[in-house]
Amino acid sequence: SAKTNYYITEASEMRALIKPRKKFAHKGMFGHGLLIAGSYGMGGAALLASRACLRSGIGLLTVHTPVCNHDLLQSNVPEAMVQDDVHDRCFAEAADLDNFQAVAIGPGLGQEEITVQALFDQVSNCYIPLVLDADALNIFSSYRNYLTRIPRHSILTPHIKELERIIGRCSNSYERLSKAKELAAHLQCYIVLKGAWTAVITPDGVTYFNPTGNPGMATAGSGDVLTGVILSLLSQGYTHEEACRLGVYVHGLAGDIACQQKGVIGMTSGDIADALPAAWKQLM
Ligand code: AMP
Ligand code: MG
Repeated sequence: SAKTNYYITEASEMRALIKPRKKFAHKGMFGHGLLIAGSYGMGGAALLASRACLRSGIGLLTVHTPVCNHDLLQSNVPEAMVQDDVHDRCFAEAADLDNFQAVAIGPGLGQEEITVQALFDQVSNCYIPLVLDADALNIFSSYRNYLTRIPRHSILTPHIKELERIIGRCSNSYERLSKAKELAAHLQCYIVLKGAWTAVITPDGVTYFNPTGNPGMATAGSGDVLTGVILSLLSQGYTHEEACRLGVYVHGLAGDIACQQKGVIGMTSGDIADALPAAWKQLM
């Protein structure tokens, strides 16, 4: 049809999505998420995503990570449980998904051969809401035949380079967006195309542009923080579309607060994670 289907997300819409907490709420009502992240030398990605996830209202978080990152996580995010992979240095064995409401895979995952196998195994047999980010996406771009194993309604969170590794180089942002919409339709997935004005693309081809965020977020680990926020929201029972749009919005808002406090040059992705509580407070 000739319908354009482009929208800009507004604060009032996002505010209306936030589920209020009842007096007698308990942690079992806010879900248990699984984060599969980190490899040797990239444990920080798992750490950042975990912190962001716990700062976005999740009930319980388990992090599946190689043995080398066990102590890092236990010391720096004591709120999270840690499930050691069989491997010392990378993701090598798919995790059991029973008892989790959502799973996110990718930050700092690495692309070892054994990780590729574990990823395909994990994704092919995934029956809960799934987020794929970073190296999980990079692995799929090296094995594009396997893309169709991604379950319908999964959320893919590529930055421009990660997207173009999958769909090929684009000459302008219009072409990139069109091809991203084709991929979302083909896989029946949600695509969160990250950057300034992050686009949330639904399987039906509706596109929501996000107004929050700033160039200070162009720094290592920013995307890992977003993955943690989206995992948190999915685990709490927000729909895929809500988790994408609200997650992207609040992540950008936290980035704006971090920028006010630390400045566009000095801010880090850890500051974005630290600003999430203020962002949630401001939005409520
Ligand atoms: P990643 O490249 O995976 O670390 O993700 C970067 C994150 O920071 C994404 O959520 C982007 O939307 C955000 N980001 C990066 N650069 C900008 C920018 N110039 N304006 C707004 N957000 C940005
Ligand atoms: Mg990233």
